Amino acid sequence: EYVRLTGHLTLADIRGRHVREWTAEHDRDRLNQMLAQCLQTGHVRNLEIDCCEPAGDRTPVELNATRLDTPDGPWILGLCRDISERRRAAAALAQKAEELARSNADLDEFAYAASHDLKGPLGMVMRHAQRLERRCGERLDAESIEHLDSIKNGVRLMDRLIRDLHTNSQVGRDTRLEPVDTAALVREVAIVLSPQIEDAGAQLSTAGLPTVVASRTDLLTVFQNLIQNAIKFREAGRPPRIDVSAERESEEWVFAFRDNGIGIDPVYSERIFKLFERLPGSADTEGTGIGLANCKKAVERRGGRIWVESQPGAGSTFYFTLPILAEAAKTFNRS
Ligand code: ADP
Repeated sequence: EYVRLTGHLTLADIRGRHVREWTAEHDRDRLNQMLAQCLQTGHVRNLEIDCCEPAGDRTPVELNATRLDTPDGPWILGLCRDISERRRAAAALAQKAEELARSNADLDEFAYAASHDLKGPLGMVMRHAQRLERRCGERLDAESIEHLDSIKNGVRLMDRLIRDLHTNSQVGRDTRLEPVDTAALVREVAIVLSPQIEDAGAQLSTAGLPTVVASRTDLLTVFQNLIQNAIKFREAGRPPRIDVSAERESEEWVFAFRDNGIGIDPVYSERIFKLFERLPGSADTEGTGIGLANCKKAVERRGGRIWVESQPGAGSTFYFTLPILAEAAKTFNRS
């Protein structure tokens, strides 16, 4: 059957010979161990070994074997599957992943350099606009003052865009993992955002927030953006309520940020996580459309997912997952 399936060996090559003999030398010890295990436990599952052919080529196969108990003693029934194609596909995939990682790094590098270099000329525009205002302020008519204000507003928006893009280029770079008390993180964000919280009369509550092993910088980016959005996109006349909670689901934490704000039409629930995406109706609210893209990048770089469940007028709940790093957690618990 092996000959028929693979066409690599003739029947004469195989008949009467031990499977070890047509196994590549570097895999023989492993095969012996697995055969012994098969006799002991009754089976071998998905063992990958290389078979050698008379011409010296190697064919990777996946071996599954079962012990057959017969009156003559135990036999091993083995089933080999040629996995050359799978190996080729896995190698191609690994190469693609490497190329993608390289192109992502190039993109981060570009965003970092661009955001750094754009600051200079932007500062110059602002300084000249302010100088013009100081020197000629009294001579300017209402229309010219309006133009000057537009220039300054444009510069401020550009400045925010540059800062958010800079953050985007830095997300995921901090590879230091440390224990982060997420309840304390919310308290920290509340201090940073206290002017907005007080201004909006927002109430922030937490439940079941754990200490996780993560990059503190990235987690702070996520928490700050989600809480800030919940305050920004509030319903007029309704003070924002933001409930931050977490639940453990097998090997990951699922965090939830629930608000009572304007909500989001589900048709936009994927788009909002893209760079520069803002929804119709957001124009009056300050923002760049980069915050959620930064959250997505931070979460996905750590192997998590982020999504939103919402309806217009019914508030939104943003969820994200954080894989529990068992080994890291053990180390931290010990220390
Ligand atoms: P920004 O806040 O700078 O506009 P984000 O990337 O943080 O950019 O958010 C993208 C868009 O998603 C926002 O412009 C808004 O339309 C929508 N959005 C985000 N968070 C909320 C929320 N909590 N409630 C309602 N809409 C939201």
